[in-house]
Amino acid sequence: MIYFLYDELFLKHETGEFHPENPQRLISIYTRLRSRGIFENVIKLKPEKINYESLKNVHDPLYIKKVEEECRKGYSLLSTGDTDICSSSNDVALYAAGGVLKTLDKIFNSEIKRGFCSIRPPGHHASADIGMGFCIYNNIALAAEHAKSNYNIEKIMIIDWDVHHGNGTQDIFYGDNSVLFVSTHQSPLYPGTGSSTEKGMGPGKGFTINIPMKKGTGNDDIISVFNEIIMPAAKEFKPELTLISAGFDSRKDDPLGGFLIDDDGFRKLTRMVIEISEYSGSGKILSILEGGYNYDGLSSAVFSHMDEMISGS
Ligand SMILES: [Zn+2]
Repeated sequence: MIYFLYDELFLKHETGEFHPENPQRLISIYTRLRSRGIFENVIKLKPEKINYESLKNVHDPLYIKKVEEECRKGYSLLSTGDTDICSSSNDVALYAAGGVLKTLDKIFNSEIKRGFCSIRPPGHHASADIGMGFCIYNNIALAAEHAKSNYNIEKIMIIDWDVHHGNGTQDIFYGDNSVLFVSTHQSPLYPGTGSSTEKGMGPGKGFTINIPMKKGTGNDDIISVFNEIIMPAAKEFKPELTLISAGFDSRKDDPLGGFLIDDDGFRKLTRMVIEISEYSGSGKILSILEGGYNYDGLSSAVFSHMDEMISGS
């Protein structure tokens, strides 16, 4: 059993018919999961809105106010960057972030140690005060801060396998040695950050690991990188909580990415993350949807990922 968080209210964040990050993404995931019978093995959760105090753990109060105002005034684009919005977007983003925290609370207060959040808008490009790259609030950073402040967790690993660099997450934890941030991403590609020389600063030096990879990266390439770099780093760090920025735009046939990872590849990566989560003995994994824009590919990759989290030991 794993937790599965989803709500149709996430469809109310409308970005326009031709925008790649649109409601159809979550509809296709839900439809696929239902037809494959996976819901027999999940506990479904519904989101609640994140409270202001929790949101402030990561985001600047002026930015929070700006998002609220710009949505209320009917802006179609967030003024800080390339994130399309509608009048409901702030509410949806607050529910998405709150849903992530709710799933984390369940993981910390039950025997079930893994969960997947099928949410939008995504979050890993959002920094403390800049929304960009289809992201408004940084869901995974909020989860990490929530674990630190509510459960005294001192070692959190974030694995970001989205095809794009998780610049917002990196920025938020750049000086923080309690969060080991590891990102595999296509380079060169949006947003242009994520060079292997970006390693953290101050006490956080060495706690950011960037692994830029070429267009055409496939299963074997990424599995090698996990074996040679990510698993040894995790073994040394021994995270008490492992978070996945689960972007599936790194899957083959994605319109925004050029990687060739297939569903079997994501199954293997999931298995490796399970192994990482066991180094400390906790086994706790929270996986949060980021990108993925080929509906068919996205939904089948999510199925493989969740299926492995359910069955993998
Ligand atoms: Zn992406």
